[in-house]
Amino acid sequence: MYKHLPKILELQNIDAEIDKLKQVKAKIPLDMKKLNAELEKQKERYESQKTILEELQKHHRSKERNLAVQQEQLEKYKSQRNAVKTNREYTALEEEISELEDATSEIEDEILELMISIDEANDRIEEAEKEYKTHEASFKEKRNVYMSDMEGFDKEIAKWQKTREKVSKNINPALMQKYKNWRKRRGGTFVAVIHGQSCGGCHLRLPPQLVNEVRKREQLYTCNSCGRILYWEEEEEPEKAQLAEDNS
Ligand SMILES: [Zn+2]
Repeated sequence: MYKHLPKILELQNIDAEIDKLKQVKAKIPLDMKKLNAELEKQKERYESQKTILEELQKHHRSKERNLAVQQEQLEKYKSQRNAVKTNREYTALEEEISELEDATSEIEDEILELMISIDEANDRIEEAEKEYKTHEASFKEKRNVYMSDMEGFDKEIAKWQKTREKVSKNINPALMQKYKNWRKRRGGTFVAVIHGQSCGGCHLRLPPQLVNEVRKREQLYTCNSCGRILYWEEEEEPEKAQLAEDNS
């Protein structure tokens, strides 16, 4: 069993790499969502300015219609001047005309104010549109960067996955199952390299007797405090290691 440990160790390093890449990759859609929300806000501002303008224009059109009706009426009254026979009729007509003239000039003032407001709204729209377009362009640029980053991560992950397949091919199935269970339950390191006299997983000091047993590289031993499988890493000649593996 012990001879499978270097492979498991390699596997867990690969899985750590893959996990790390996946974690970084998972952040990208969140960043993109945030960026998109900002752009949407800009768009809403732009759209709301357009709605304001449309309302003003609608108001303007209705005032113009109103003005036309009043002016038509005024012309009608004015044309009646020649047909008037009595003083009373004349005074009444002149009163109507004067009232209508006041009303039309009031509407004309309102129309002027509306036109100024429309001009201002147009300026604001232009500004909001410019801002939105700038944001949109930078959004597209950033999105392209994100997309190519994602692709890069996918490629990197696929590369590691391939190596992982190769490495896990000859690992003892029972040990592999244990490793999988550990990852599901606790994640992180399953095989802990001994550093000095301490477990590389939980960093607690190990009994010297246990370290000696592990150093024999015969059986599997676990750390008493964290339960990880202990591994003694020793510089070995590659040929010797291969030989040891073939003989065991
Ligand atoms: Zn430990």
